[in-house]
This record gives sequence, structure tokens and C-alpha cells, in this order.
Amino acid sequence: MKKEPLLYSVTPFDLSGHRVRVRLTLRNPDPGGQSFSLPAWIPGSYLIRDFSRQIETIQASSRGKPVGIRKTANHTWLCEPCKAELDIDYTVYAWDLSVRGAHVDETHAFLNGTSIFLCPDGRSQEPCHVELCPPPQARNWKVYTSLPEAAGHPRCARRHGYGMYIAPDYDALIDHPIEMGTPQVVRFKAHGAEHEMVFTGVAPNLDLKRIAADVQKICAAQIALFEPRTRRAPFLDSAGRYVFMTMVTGDGYGGLEHRASTALMTSRRDLPVLGRDNAGEGYQTFLGLVSHEYFHTWNVKRIKPAAFAPYDLGRENHTRLLWVFEGFTSYYDDLMLLRSGVIDEADYLRMLAKTISGVQRAGGRFKQSVAESSFDAWTRYYKQDENSPNALVSYYTKGSLVALGLDITIRHASAGRRSLDDVMRLMWERYGRDFYTGAGTGVPEDAMADLIREATGVDTRDFIERHAYGREDVPLESLLPLLGIALNWKPASGGPTLDLRLRDSHGETQIATVYEGGSAHRGGLSAGDALVAIDGLKVNGAAGVDRLLAAYQPGDTVAVHVFRRDELRAFQLVLNAPGATECVLERPAAAG
Ligand code: ZN
Repeated sequence: MKKEPLLYSVTPFDLSGHRVRVRLTLRNPDPGGQSFSLPAWIPGSYLIRDFSRQIETIQASSRGKPVGIRKTANHTWLCEPCKAELDIDYTVYAWDLSVRGAHVDETHAFLNGTSIFLCPDGRSQEPCHVELCPPPQARNWKVYTSLPEAAGHPRCARRHGYGMYIAPDYDALIDHPIEMGTPQVVRFKAHGAEHEMVFTGVAPNLDLKRIAADVQKICAAQIALFEPRTRRAPFLDSAGRYVFMTMVTGDGYGGLEHRASTALMTSRRDLPVLGRDNAGEGYQTFLGLVSHEYFHTWNVKRIKPAAFAPYDLGRENHTRLLWVFEGFTSYYDDLMLLRSGVIDEADYLRMLAKTISGVQRAGGRFKQSVAESSFDAWTRYYKQDENSPNALVSYYTKGSLVALGLDITIRHASAGRRSLDDVMRLMWERYGRDFYTGAGTGVPEDAMADLIREATGVDTRDFIERHAYGREDVPLESLLPLLGIALNWKPASGGPTLDLRLRDSHGETQIATVYEGGSAHRGGLSAGDALVAIDGLKVNGAAGVDRLLAAYQPGDTVAVHVFRRDELRAFQLVLNAPGATECVLERPAAAG
């Protein structure tokens, strides 16, 4: 008997109440009692999120007759035995304005499959049909997704329309988020492959043409990096198109990668507007985010750590390799802006210097390697607190410096004949290109040194041991000059400092972080303390602290009054010179 695809029907039905109705229809359910589960996390964001919390109601029925259904664990349900077709009807509360969840209101619906699609246990390899239905209150909305239309189905959706879509299995089903609404849209082709950029949210006079022209160059450069001969875009294996779904807000920032699309959040002020030519660092930040998520189309969505092949969506999946999958991606995101010509070298060196300064500032890099940070992403990097700058290292930023160090090492040792590009291409050929159509195997945990040697002939085992699995800084002072770039440190500007991070909260100036070994740490201040006065003068906001301290010299002692909970406490602090130094990168002009 030929199995019918699993059938999902999705309707955002209560826009002001932020609710989505889903029906899952299952022919031939497990006669002993069918169980279902919802992912506990969304791939690309390494934190248990318990999406099942947002399922408000759930009922099961068969041919109109109720069937018992009950929860068996946090993310799982079990139906009573039932021999005929089984319908599961449930409502999902969708009011999470992030790239990771589901968000529905009167202006749009954004749906990640991990929030709305229950998986029948034992059936994750079967094809799925998804019927998207318009909200009754907003029938003019269109649909934007990389989920392919179900060609040949009698209710097949038209492009951007409602009706039937299809996914070959559950892993694909939850990897094509869906946007519905009336967004601003621009399209372009890169090496013949169709790309669509969708902007939701208020963004007056958005310069769509300029954005499309710049992003087109970035996409074309990345396709050519991985497929220099065929120039074939990777997502042609799953959908005929790539979709950038951008939510524009006042101050949002973030992105989440998928196999043929990405969900982005950006600040309105980072986007270029018509008739102005002054899109500056903010726009470069947006292009860097676009470049980062697009690079993931290869690196992590197809070239994956073995620990993610396949994902186990019910629990944490541990890997020590996020310094490769996030770190290398963070190295290439800005580099591809330079290579594609959307920024110049001065801009690139400014961005790189900022990354180097940031890594240098966090003392946590002496307590944790990027491999350890990767393994503990679930409980530490994704659960940051007041002490994180003292305790953690970022596998993104330090990982990108490890990639830079490897790239320079390879180029130097091979006299310019090989580079990290060759490593990416070998990983692409071996693990990525046929991931969804072939065996679907991932990169073994200990494979990087061997892969680099195979791709380039250069032995980097010692480098990787020291800088990725060990906690040593990447020696960029000696490596960057091999590229003709000078690295210098200049003292940070400003007056003496208490060595803490402040935030204004509920009318108080609170200590967010006390940097280990600094003035505040030595003097006894703690995160959470509310600053009241410095040498008897009232503290007026975080910015006011710098103004008060400007009258002093490093080495001076000041009296600091704080409220710790509701108790007034006094401390004597010896001020430090501005400890943080700033990295400056320059390519000295060639002599003569
Ligand atoms: Zn990333």
C-alpha cells in the first residue's frame, strides 16, 4: 500500500490574539497508540526552548469521533489506539518576535516549523503536505517561503499563494519558515539562481534596489567560492529559490539560517533609504548579517558536525566544532563583503580590528577554549549572565580569529598556492554537496587537522591544539604582517575607570558586570548593586559616571555608595587607568 503524505493544515485564525490553528491528519496511525513530539529546540540556536509550552489546546479524533490524547513528557503526546485515520487539532500561541519562534498579529504571520508542526513518532522520514490557509481577517496577504509548492496536487499553491506545499521529510518541513503578509519585496538572480528579499515591518523609503544590488554581489561571490566551476547554488537541491525574510524593528538584530532561506531581524536605521548616499556602518552590519546567514547555506546547513547528522530534536546535541561552523562563518561573512566589493579594505580592517579588540577585552578566554565554549553552548553561551564576560569565550568571535590565523598560516606555508578556501571546498565536496540527496554524514569531531592537511598539505595540528582546543590567543601580531598588515594597540580614550559595565534600570544605575581583577572587583562592588554617589556626588545614569570620574586621575581613591538590595553600603575604590586597549590595523603604504 502506498503511504499518503502526512497532511498539515495551518491557519492563523486569531490575529489580535496571536493564535494559529493546525490540523495534522495521519492515515494508518500506530495501531498500538500513536505518539507525537514537538522539537525542544530549533536548529541553529543551541538552547532548549520548550516550544510545546505554546500549544494551548490539543484534541484528537478519528472520523469525527474523539480519541483520547495525553501528555507523556515535556514535548510528547500519546493517543489512544485507533485503527482509522487520525486527526490532531491544536492551537499555538504565536507572540514571540524573534527569528526562532512564531509571531502573528494584524500585520503579518511568521511561522517556524519547530513551533507549529508536531511530528508523529516513527514517521519523520515520510513526505509532508502542508496546506496554508489565509487568515479570515486578511485574505489579501501573500505567502513567502522556500517551501516548494506541491506540484501536481489538485490544491497546489501558486507562487506566493495559499494552498498545498510539500516537504520530503520532517527535517525539511521545519527548515523552511513561512512569512505571510504584505511586505516590501525585491528579487534578483545570482549565477542564475532566484533570490527573494522580504521586508516586514515599517521601513519608509527603503532603497530596495541598492540592497538587492549589494546582496546579489555577496551571494554570487559565495556561490563562486564553493562551486568555482559550475557556479551552482546549493539550495537548488531543495527549493528553486532562496528567501531572505527580514523583520524590521526599532532596534532588533539577529539571524537564523535555514537550507534555502534565512530569518533576519534588523534595526530600521541600519537600512538604506532612497535618495541618501550615507548608509554607513549600520548598513555594513546588516550586509554582514546577510552574508553570515547565507554562508551557512553551505557551512552548517549542509556541511555539518556529525553530532547534527541527524539532529536529535528532543535534547541537547553536543559538538566541540562550533568554532568551525560559527567561527569560520563569522570569518567569511565580512571577508565576503570585501571580496564582493561592497566594502573596501579600510572598512574591512576596521571591522576586523573591532573583532580583535572585543576578543581581547573578555578575560573569559583564559578559562575556556572555543571548543569548550562550543560544547557548553546550551548551558553557558546561550544562558549568559552577569559573570559571562569573565567566564566565557565566544566561539563566534574568537572562532573567526582562529579561522583568520589558519588562513594566514596556510597561505604562508604554501607560498600563496593554498588557503582556507580549499579547506571549505574539500569539506563541501566530502560532506556538503550531497548531504540531503546522499548519505547525510557529518564532519567527525576530530577531523579538522586532517581535512586541512588533505586540502592544503599544511600541518596545522599544533595550531588547532593551542588556539581552538587550548586557550592561547591567536598570535595575530606576528601573523597579520605576513599579509602586509600591521597590528598595533592604542590606549582606549577617556578618563579613569571602575572596570564595570553599567545599565540604567527602573531609574537606577545598576552594575551589570564587574570585570575580574579590576577596580570595582578589588573594592568590593557586585553585579546588581545600584550606584548612588561617587565621593558624595549623586550618580545620574550610566553616562553620568564617566562625567564624575573625569575629574580624577588613575590611582585616586574615591568613596562609592551603593544600594545592595535595600541596604546602603560604602566602599573605597582605587581608580584604574582605562584598561581596555583598542586594536588598530593598517596596511603601511608601500615605500617609494
Ligand atoms: Zn551563525
